[in-house]
Amino acid sequence: MEVRRLGFEKFGWISYASQTRVSKFTEYLEAGKIYGTKCVECGLLQFPPRAHCLRCLSNNFEWAALSGDCTLVTFTKVEAAPATFKEQAPYLLGLAEFAEGPKVFAWIDKAVEDEGLRVGMKLKLQSSKLANGQWGYMLTSST
Ligand SMILES: [Zn+2]
Repeated sequence: MEVRRLGFEKFGWISYASQTRVSKFTEYLEAGKIYGTKCVECGLLQFPPRAHCLRCLSNNFEWAALSGDCTLVTFTKVEAAPATFKEQAPYLLGLAEFAEGPKVFAWIDKAVEDEGLRVGMKLKLQSSKLANGQWGYMLTSST
């Protein structure tokens, strides 16, 4: 009997390898640094880091330091949050573009007044320690 292959045979392995290969990301965040990955083959800069290039599918990448300087593209205020984030609501989510090119979707620091938010304003992406002790990043005021 012929076994039909669906194309997911390697998925677990690729997923595992990807996670392991970009685990340095957390160490950078812990040190207060923002790093993306740059594809060695085609030069595509990606954030958050990916072990595989979205454009050319190469797995040949190098770490690239990012300034954290961003421009706000759009944002939204979440009032009715999913159960996991209920205690944080209301909160702001933003899509911002790094000075270096890639776009990032992130939480906006509670210290930033939502009345003061404007599309096109400068923000800074910074690493932050989450309530659960893990490391993440958020958009904060650039000043
Ligand atoms: Zn590439």
